[in-house]
Amino acid sequence: MVKQEDKFKKVISHAKEYGYVFQSSEIYDGLSAVYDYAQNGAELKKNIREYWWKAMVQMNDNIVGIDAAIFMHPTTWKASGHVDAFNDPLIDNKDSKKRYRADVLIEDHVAKIEAKIDKEVAKAAKRFGDSFDKEQFLTTNPRVVGYAEKAAAILKRMGQSLEKEDLADVKALIEELGIVCPVSGSKNWTDVKQFNLMFGTKLGASADTAMELYLRPETAQGIFVNFLNVQKSGRMKIPFGIAQVGKAFRNEIVARQFIFRQREFEQMEMQFFIRPGSQKEWYGKWKENRMKWHLSLGMGEENYRFHDHEKLAHYADAAADIEFKFPFGFKELEGIHSRTDFDLGSHEKFSGKKLQYFDPELNESYVPYVVETSIGLDRMFLAVFSHALQEEELENGTVRTVLRIPAVLAPTKAAVLPLIKRDGLPEIAHEIIDDLKWDFNVSYDEKDAVGRRYRRQDAAGTPFCITVDHQTLEDRTVTIRHRDSMEQQRVAIDAVRNIIAEEVDMKNWLKKLA
Ligand code: ATP
Repeated sequence: MVKQEDKFKKVISHAKEYGYVFQSSEIYDGLSAVYDYAQNGAELKKNIREYWWKAMVQMNDNIVGIDAAIFMHPTTWKASGHVDAFNDPLIDNKDSKKRYRADVLIEDHVAKIEAKIDKEVAKAAKRFGDSFDKEQFLTTNPRVVGYAEKAAAILKRMGQSLEKEDLADVKALIEELGIVCPVSGSKNWTDVKQFNLMFGTKLGASADTAMELYLRPETAQGIFVNFLNVQKSGRMKIPFGIAQVGKAFRNEIVARQFIFRQREFEQMEMQFFIRPGSQKEWYGKWKENRMKWHLSLGMGEENYRFHDHEKLAHYADAAADIEFKFPFGFKELEGIHSRTDFDLGSHEKFSGKKLQYFDPELNESYVPYVVETSIGLDRMFLAVFSHALQEEELENGTVRTVLRIPAVLAPTKAAVLPLIKRDGLPEIAHEIIDDLKWDFNVSYDEKDAVGRRYRRQDAAGTPFCITVDHQTLEDRTVTIRHRDSMEQQRVAIDAVRNIIAEEVDMKNWLKKLA
């Protein structure tokens, strides 16, 4: 079995080799936790964005989308609580001089305990074979129950200490668990301190008139401050949602794990405005809807799970993450938060402007409650990409590297390959491309033997290869090869478009959400 770390290294190097993700400013040795999306990465990202946008905005007649500015009036961040509370607890190791997030150190420790549970389950599954009942094993095996209780107790204590801002207890917990610095191996820790994650900047040219600003740490506030503008101009009736995709910036203490935790990233957020009191119902509905969206991509139900928050953010009365099984374990991919009337209520106070909705059915005005869904586009990219990258052993003993990106998201839908570079085959290949390019992103590839070209397209994630050969000259048929099954069909050139459309058309994927 490939070790987790090795798998992750492969993901990173494959992303570079096949033009998906590059380190930012690489010629200057890079900039920490900042990445550039390359020719294929930009397409994949665009397709994920579009799949989300259509599922949210186009498929729901009560959700509209906006595109607010990154700069916002600085009072926004006082009202939202970010100036006072958008902190992470940090701790330094005195020997390695490395800085960590205290909560992440503890969570990593818990993940190790959880890994022990997984190991026990795998061992038992092997021992008991078909008669193995995982649920029963998890609830009755004393060793496993012990691990689970231990993990839960640690998370509970950490949650409570962070909630109370009892940073001394967070440090005590790190010490009691005997957590060592992964670099120096020592337990020589500083105290835990709070660190604000917002990037500050200045607006205006002259020093005395310049205004202190922040780069937005989340896109949500651009939606809240526009709530009434959208509601009025769009004549929206509650319940309704406002969606947005855009950049957000956080000065993360420890940026690692490739594009999982960046300092500049993109969020896809939707704020759903509802009647006060209905938040439980809508929170449940949006948890379900969002999970359905993830599962529609066919990346395996076993790779997702919900994680309910112990520690609630200052604005929330309920919150859960959808976690995905990344190469480094289950981690947050998306958050679903019941934000109450915190944000709108707070903007009312700070701006002195009413942000209320007149509900004609109740004949009264109120500040709406909000349920938010918030997913990182880059994290979704990493989920898709890392899940897609597979190495499979073929019958002839060779290993094939294949990037099984869901066809609807694949950057290039088909590559057209003339078997050889003469006899009029390239001309027909170009004709096919000229015809298909109106509907799909297609590419041309004539270099190397056709088998090598197939492998290259497999590794780049292209779902179809269309090969033009001498028979094409006689009967206008081509071979169409499917990336995942490697099956080949002989079909008329005229049939190619429909075969591709059947698999890549977003409509066919969105239908799974109905
Ligand atoms: P974490 O606990 O991992 O720092 P968070 O709980 O602070 O994440 P939210 O504030 O809920 O994250 O942001 C919503 C989503 O934005 C997250 O689920 C994640 O997908 C994405 N996200 C947050 N921070 C980053 C980052 N530094 N880089 C990339 N994506 C991010």
